[in-house]
Amino acid sequence: MANLGNLTNTSEILQKYQFRMQKKYGQNFLIDTNILYKIVDAAQITKEDCVLEIGPGIGTMTQHLAEAAGRVIAVEIDKDLIPILEETLAPYDNVTLLHADILKVDLQELLEEHNEGKPVKVVANLPYYITTPIIMELFESHIPLISITVMVQSEVAERMQVGPGTKDYGALSLAVQYFAKPEVVARVPASCFVPRPNVDSTVIRLTRHTSPPVEVMDEGYLFAVIRASFNQRRKTLVNGLVNAGNLGVTKNQVEEVLEQMDISKTIRGETFTLERFAEFSNRLVLKRG
Ligand code: SAM
Repeated sequence: MANLGNLTNTSEILQKYQFRMQKKYGQNFLIDTNILYKIVDAAQITKEDCVLEIGPGIGTMTQHLAEAAGRVIAVEIDKDLIPILEETLAPYDNVTLLHADILKVDLQELLEEHNEGKPVKVVANLPYYITTPIIMELFESHIPLISITVMVQSEVAERMQVGPGTKDYGALSLAVQYFAKPEVVARVPASCFVPRPNVDSTVIRLTRHTSPPVEVMDEGYLFAVIRASFNQRRKTLVNGLVNAGNLGVTKNQVEEVLEQMDISKTIRGETFTLERFAEFSNRLVLKRG
């Protein structure tokens, strides 16, 4: 295979197809072979694996994934990249290329159709403008998922790992830590991409827990509570929840639960650990109308 992980070969194919980079799609293509090896290595891919790649671009990482995995499903939104991908991925008969928006795809159906509903590993150099919605969708859709190994903005990688008491702590931290164990694989400088992004990047692996670290009665409700708590950061937890308007509890009921837990009514959500949120939402579930 012609190695696309360098500036010369990437520029050549982009020119051949007169491709114009689309900022709106978060297009920053990898041009560093070492980083590609690191990502594929960190994802621990074997011929037994099916990999879902989000945003294959010109196929730089897809080629490495196709060499390592049994099957690769690659979903790309930009129709102008499809003819390029058809050329760069032509040598591989184990790649299924789909032209679609990953946030509009029914993931269960996709995996049912292309992988008989069996578990997948997600590997991607994610488009940064939709990193959080993609990660949330992957977890909340409950597809059979082994791990997610992705390139993200360093600041987002930080948010995925932190706990209460830091400014980066939020709904993403709690969701990631509820579903998975996050581990940083590599820091990646802007010079490894074309065009260069304005931010530093990090490869992070999220290995899905076999069972969540806390027990909750209603997972959807837990995340509704968490989102409401962080929507209005400067407000108290009580006001955040009541203002959200979708939790089916009154101000009095929220205050009662806090009292049962021996917690001040003026507490802010950002001080709660995952364990606290779990207990709090379990108690609220019992009160909701
Ligand atoms: N994987 C390539 C690489 O590493 O060089 C490209 C990575 S680039 C950061 C992100 C890719 O995601 C682009 O190819 C972009 O067109 C694609 N993309 C952006 N939004 C998408 C979406 N909603 N669904 C699927 N692909 C998307």
